[in-house]
Amino acid sequence: MSIRLKLLISYLSVALIPAFFVGVLTFHNYRASFEASQISDMADLAALKADKIETYFAGLKTNMETARAFYNIRKNLPTLVSFANTPSAQEFLDAKKMLDGQLQPMQSAMGLSDIMLVGPSGKIVYSSNPAHSRKDFLNPLSDPGQKALAKGENGVYISDVFLNKAEAGGTRMLVTGPAYDLNNVFSGVIVFEVTMAPVYKLTLDRTGLGATGEVLLSRKMGDKVVYLTPLRYDPHESFKRTITIGSAEGIPSQKAVQGETGSGRSIDYRGRKIIAGWRYLPSLDWGIVAKMDSDEAFVAVDNLRRLLLIILLFLVTVCGVTAVLLAQSISGPIKKLSEGAAVIGGGNLDYMVGTAHKDEIGQLSRAFDEMTRNLKKTTASRDELEKEVSERKKVEAALRESEKHLNKAQEIAHLGSWELDLVHNRLSWSDEVYRIFGLKPQEFAATYEAFLAAVHPDDRSTVDAAYTNSLRENRDHYEIEHRVTRKYSGEVRVVQEKCTHIRDASGAVVRSVGMVHDITEHKKAEEELRRSNENLEQFAYVASHDLQEPLRMMASYSELLERRYKGKLDSDADEFIAYIVDGAKRLQRLINDLLTYSRLGRTGKTMSELDCNSILGRVLSSMKTATEESGAIVTNDPLPTLTGNESNFIQLFQNLIGNAVKFRGVEPPRVHIGAKKNGGDWLFSVKDNGIGIEPQYKDRIFLIFQRLHARSEYPGTGIGLSICKKIVETHGGRIWLESESGKGSTFNFTIPAKGELENDQ
Ligand code: ADP
Repeated sequence: MSIRLKLLISYLSVALIPAFFVGVLTFHNYRASFEASQISDMADLAALKADKIETYFAGLKTNMETARAFYNIRKNLPTLVSFANTPSAQEFLDAKKMLDGQLQPMQSAMGLSDIMLVGPSGKIVYSSNPAHSRKDFLNPLSDPGQKALAKGENGVYISDVFLNKAEAGGTRMLVTGPAYDLNNVFSGVIVFEVTMAPVYKLTLDRTGLGATGEVLLSRKMGDKVVYLTPLRYDPHESFKRTITIGSAEGIPSQKAVQGETGSGRSIDYRGRKIIAGWRYLPSLDWGIVAKMDSDEAFVAVDNLRRLLLIILLFLVTVCGVTAVLLAQSISGPIKKLSEGAAVIGGGNLDYMVGTAHKDEIGQLSRAFDEMTRNLKKTTASRDELEKEVSERKKVEAALRESEKHLNKAQEIAHLGSWELDLVHNRLSWSDEVYRIFGLKPQEFAATYEAFLAAVHPDDRSTVDAAYTNSLRENRDHYEIEHRVTRKYSGEVRVVQEKCTHIRDASGAVVRSVGMVHDITEHKKAEEELRRSNENLEQFAYVASHDLQEPLRMMASYSELLERRYKGKLDSDADEFIAYIVDGAKRLQRLINDLLTYSRLGRTGKTMSELDCNSILGRVLSSMKTATEESGAIVTNDPLPTLTGNESNFIQLFQNLIGNAVKFRGVEPPRVHIGAKKNGGDWLFSVKDNGIGIEPQYKDRIFLIFQRLHARSEYPGTGIGLSICKKIVETHGGRIWLESESGKGSTFNFTIPAKGELENDQ
């Protein structure tokens, strides 16, 4: 059952049930009291009418007493009786005249139809009503009960009502009383003929009886009730309608004629429901009933009932509407709230259910909105978190992808990487390290011990020392080449390891990262190359060495030819011989240079401590002629002491300084030999102000036999710089050119500083 229906039902029950009960109770009370008052009105009315009727008849009795005492009647009645048979006698006429004088005014004053005097014989001797007088004179009294006269002789008597058939519509009563003469002797009876008109007037005055009420007089005749008055609802005259005593109709009249006095609801002679008051009139032996139809009597009650019903209906409507509105005003916001909750529950956190109502539901709705806002904030931060998580997942996926690529790249390059976290003592290897070591990641945890176990037994101590020494000596990196033996296949691989230490702010090493490069194939190729170079050099050496001899012969004999036959043969012969001499000399120089070049790789080098200052001094002094000729000025920085091969270094400086002087420009050559420490190396430079070299030739000039100029311009074999390159490289350094055409050249080369050179070797 919805709240709205509940509210509706409870409101209606609270409002309507009491209203209904109060209404019904009030109605019943009102009806009861109204009924009581109506009934008592009827009783009062019956009493009042009864009183009036009795008073009327009491008045008649009094008048009768008065008439009995009249002198006129006492004197003249005996006269009338005496002269009854001679009504024309003067005495009779006088007597009548006297009586008329008094009784006719009395008759009319009292509203009687007649005042008669009856003689002792029962014959009417006087009638105040002239019309009666003519037809009733000397007739007996018209008395249906025949009691009036007999009773009237003894005292005042009131007869029953009877119909006077002689006079239309005339109901009559007789009041009789004895008359005495002046000597107090019974002289006849005085009779008042009473019409019922005054009584009818009383009963027909229906004031207070509404449209249906009436007052009824009745009397008992045998087992019947006879109505004495005309009935409102019966067209017949009175006396015609009777009711059998004990029947279900005319109950109040039945009770009244039987001597009861009372009031209440009852049934009238028509069998209709009435309210009535009834009384017994003892003086007349009559019953009187004042009654009114219940319908009319209670019309006010019915009206009230109708009014109450209308009020109740109105109340129901008003209450219903109010209840609906109230229920609406309560359940509406609750419904809205619950619908809103459903919407919010569906995920729409922007939905607001708040109302401006000041009541509890309004407060609840605003609190609900506040809760939704907070929820939204939480959700927003959760969303952000989810976003962050999903971004992080993406990044992780990208990282995994890139790791995959890295792995692939490492696999292709045969280059593995590792990292040792010294703080947590954790070592991690890339997949390629595992591959190089011939291990499977799931079988072996990366540990320093596992690493050492993979190292070839002969290299193990050296490798271990390389790492520990680098830490002990506080170096930032080291490099080492060693062998590893693959666990399962027993295959031996050559690797090159490079390691760098990472330090924290205090300088302590916290991590070491390194790479393991599988250079086995490279090594094999290198070995191959070395061997073929060796062969080549051997060949070059043998060839140049063996060529020297015939060449020397050719040269010396061609010189001999030149000396002996110059000018003796024709001019062409002189020129040709000169060519042969020149050619032979050039070939000698070439072969010498070639021999020098091939010797460089061939012969084992004797390494010693070299003071570069003294080497330079020796070189310059050997070149003294050439430098002086050219007017060259050679300067230098203080030069270091190195470990190296002496003759090589002499050759190196000689070639570079020689070129600087040879390839001079118009200016006298200025040559400067510089040296400075650069990391672990010494950086030498030989700078000149000569013709310079186009940048595109900077590599070519170091190749054997490569020259940039014609021999006629600058003599030479094109081997000098190749020799320099070989010397520098065999000492672990490198050589390069910095030059611009016309702006001089600078040849730079590095030589590892002493300690490291030794170390590497
Ligand atoms: P060579 O000096 O016997 O010709 P090199 O091998 O010494 O042979 O030099 C190769 C070439 O490099 C030279 O022919 C020359 O063209 C160029 N070259 C070398 N040194 C210099 C220099 N200092 N200035 C200009 N050119 C140079």
